[in-house]
Amino acid sequence: MITLDRVTKTYPGGVVALSEVSLRIGPGELVGIVGPSGSGKSTMLNLLGTLDRPTSGTVHLGGHDIGALSDAGLSALRASRIGFVFQQFHLAAGTPALDNVADGLLYSGLRAGERRRRAEAVLRRVGLGHRLDHEPHELSGGERQRVAIARAVAGEPALLLADEPTGALDSVSGAEVMRLLRDLHAGGTTVVIITHERALADGLPRQVRMLDGRVVTDSARDDVHAPEVSP
Ligand code: ADP
Ligand code: MG
Repeated sequence: MITLDRVTKTYPGGVVALSEVSLRIGPGELVGIVGPSGSGKSTMLNLLGTLDRPTSGTVHLGGHDIGALSDAGLSALRASRIGFVFQQFHLAAGTPALDNVADGLLYSGLRAGERRRRAEAVLRRVGLGHRLDHEPHELSGGERQRVAIARAVAGEPALLLADEPTGALDSVSGAEVMRLLRDLHAGGTTVVIITHERALADGLPRQVRMLDGRVVTDSARDDVHAPEVSP
């Protein structure tokens, strides 16, 4: 589904945020990316999500070399295939939950009525059928994140990327959000979850650990530094 091959990302000013990272994530995987603050997790997520291009190395998503696509091509690919969830929810203030989710489908080509029907269905799926008209300030942190997840998956993306989705939540709400992400994975979505909380990552089937811009362990591989060999 997505492959990083020897990806390096250098920010202006000379910070090397990722250094020669290679990673392959297959369809239907549930992957945790863990590591301390500053280790390059968000940079990696931005590259996985085509929000940014590598300084060197290649990123392939569903057969496309993202370095070779135009900005418009990249946006279209992202809109149709990838959903994002962030620590700080990023919902529109003063806008009911239903519209927050429906507006995420603005570029889907669906008519307004269908966008709202879909938004309602996905909000029910995340357990918020009774909060459709609530604005973000009328919702708890956990509910806000569930709205954000509903928005991320309303377009039925193949890949869901979550950057510290429980970082702003209490442990009970955080556990609910993790359960929801697991449910989405069980439904067939490829899910990548960034966290610096070890306990959250421990329950995931695959863990990739980062340190200083490098992948230091990958539970799917015996030795991340070894060349690809047959098992
Ligand atoms: P993490 O998500 O693991 O905390 P990041 O990927 O956000 O790590 O950051 C990795 C490194 O790159 C850090 O040293 C950070 O300060 C730096 N960095 C991140 N974003 C930028 C940016 N836009 N410009 C310059 N440096 C950045
Ligand atoms: Mg980060």
